[in-house]
Formats: sequence, structure tokens, C-alpha cells
Amino acid sequence: MKLIILGPPGAGKGTQAQHICNSYNIHHVSVGDMLRDEVGKQTEKGKLIDSYIKKGNLIPDKMITEIMKEKLSSDSCKNGYLLDGFPRTLIQGEELAKFQDIDAVFNINVDDEILAERLTGRRVCLKCKEVDHITKNKEEICKKCGEKLSIRDDDKDADIILNRIQIYHQLTEPLINFYTNKGVLHNVYSGLGASIEVYNQIKEILDGNSKK
Ligand code: AMP
Repeated sequence: MKLIILGPPGAGKGTQAQHICNSYNIHHVSVGDMLRDEVGKQTEKGKLIDSYIKKGNLIPDKMITEIMKEKLSSDSCKNGYLLDGFPRTLIQGEELAKFQDIDAVFNINVDDEILAERLTGRRVCLKCKEVDHITKNKEEICKKCGEKLSIRDDDKDADIILNRIQIYHQLTEPLINFYTNKGVLHNVYSGLGASIEVYNQIKEILDGNSKK
């Protein structure tokens, strides 16, 4: 199974990706985590990536496409994968289509006001990558591994959050039509409820697809 999860920053793509990958035993490709790992290595490439991420801008299409081509041809992806964070522009979608056939794309719909609130309160574990929210975890200690939770650099500033949401509308949203035209797009809806409610919508579609 080759899947994509689409949605604005703060839609809960990572959380849904974890549920899906655990249940269907496919590899979770979190592009943001891959990029942050590169930043952490302090390489020249990492420093360049950091300069884009810090401002809430996308890294250039050519650069991300090269990284993803290498990743998707690696052994970890040979039994199926779920892409979380790629593609994020039409150019990236077109490049991906040249070398991979995608079975299904899940587009998470969320109101912008909910996104800003989720991003400002988001806390992440740098050790095990668990994501939590300040309203649900006031101690800010990772429930999975006990590490102190952190705020992502690009979640620290309201203007950067706004920039990321605007970039999503301008550059990423056109992918919804792109995948609708390919007949693989499925809309799911996320509101104030629990993440499992979104997952149940995705599961219903995936289980329905596999029965066909
Ligand atoms: P994420 O963890 O998915 O929110 O990604 C964090 C940041 O990494 C984004 O705000 C971008 O700066 C960068 N990034 C992630 N995926 C891509 C992509 N497909 N194209 C360009 N930049 C990306």
C-alpha cells in the first residue's frame, strides 16, 4: 500500500500516520522528522534546511524531491509506506507521479482557527517523536518515554505559524484537485473531537478499499 496523508500544519497528519502505520504495518515516512534529523546533524545541508524551516518556508522542490527519491527507493519503503509531509506542492506531486503510483490520499480538513490553537500548544518529544498538546499534558513530560517535551522552533512564533498556514493554502491545497483528478483522494474531517474519530474515517475507507 502506498498512501499519502495531506492536510494543513496542525491537522494531525503525524498522529494519523502513526495509527495507520501501526495497524496496517507500513512504513511511516515523516518528511518533517527526516529534515529535522538532518538539521540536528549540523551538516551544511542541515544548516540550509534549518534556514527554511525556521521561517516556516518550504525547502526548494528540487532538493526535497531528491531526498524523497532516495528515501522511497530504500529497503524501508519496499513493503509500502505512508507519506506524511510530501508532496507539499504541485511540482512535488508531479515529480512523485513520475516514479510512484499512489493508492490513496487522505486529506484532513480542519478550520484555520483550530489549527493555530493546536500549533501554539503543540509539544513534541525530541527522543521518541511523540506529539502531545499542552491542554492534555500540563506536566510536559512525554507519556511514552518520560523525556521533557519541547516546542518546535517553527511553532514558537505566531507570524511563522500564520506563514505556514498561508503557504499551505497557496502551494499545497492545489494537490487536492491533482489527486481528485487521479481518483485517489478521500476527504476526512477533524474538529474538536479526539484523533481516533479521524482515524475511524480513514480506517473505514481503507477497509472498504481492501474488500473491493
Ligand atoms: P512538518 O513537520 O511536516 O510540519 O514539516 C516541517 C517543515 O519542514 C515545513 O514547515 C517545511 O519547512 C519543511 N518541509 C517538510 N516537508 C516539506 C516538503 N515536502 N517540501 C518542502 N519543505 C518541507
